[in-house]
Amino acid sequence: MMAAIFAIGGASVFTSCVNSDNPLPNTTALDQWQAGRTVTAEAVAVYGGIDKCFAAEPIPDDVWERMQGKTFKENPYIGRDDLRHVRALHWDYDNQMHVGEMVCNVQIADRLVNILRQLFDAKYPIQRMLLPDVYNADDETQMRDNNSSCFCYRNIAATNNLSKHARGLAVDINTLYNPYIKTLADGTLLIEPATGEPYCDRSWDFPYKITHDDFCFKLFTEAGFEWGGDWTTRKDYQHFELVE
Ligand SMILES: [Zn+2]
Repeated sequence: MMAAIFAIGGASVFTSCVNSDNPLPNTTALDQWQAGRTVTAEAVAVYGGIDKCFAAEPIPDDVWERMQGKTFKENPYIGRDDLRHVRALHWDYDNQMHVGEMVCNVQIADRLVNILRQLFDAKYPIQRMLLPDVYNADDETQMRDNNSSCFCYRNIAATNNLSKHARGLAVDINTLYNPYIKTLADGTLLIEPATGEPYCDRSWDFPYKITHDDFCFKLFTEAGFEWGGDWTTRKDYQHFELVE
């Protein structure tokens, strides 16, 4: 129990770090899709209802602009038309409803909307669902903030190989509490985020922990994704990627 309290306290520290420069107050209107804001049931009703809050569409101009030089870099493999902007609502651990967004590959867009809707309906806690551009596409920073996201044109950690995130075919959920762990060639342990170290031990109970009994695991694996927590050479407890 003490450990769980510590975990929640740790998350709130990151909340205050990110929001201090750019506070996102509660909103009573959803006319602009401002991810990170908390939102009321009344505001959702005015917007047109919950169904309208879950959708995938071509990347809007303002989102595309935000992505340039951050999550999107000129490359031969993936372009704007291959990607979709996903709108979703999500619940945090304190029962607050939030505005969320992701960018993903068109190939998984409908599935991702469907999964996020089912997680929302089940009140599955997701703390933050911001585009990684908010963190200048720095993976360590967004993971320390427990952000959940999908597309980012980047390599797999500590390799020269393109990640499935670079094609928008992998989704990371509640990243601080579900870290990436790999033993490097020199025998040292790589933990990302570094602050996720307490959550490498999966034998104790803490918030946002993904396991085989988890609803998120069930939805992604049923939709054709594999879980990084099942990998043997490394563990990536936050990571679900499309099996191709
Ligand atoms: Zn990942």
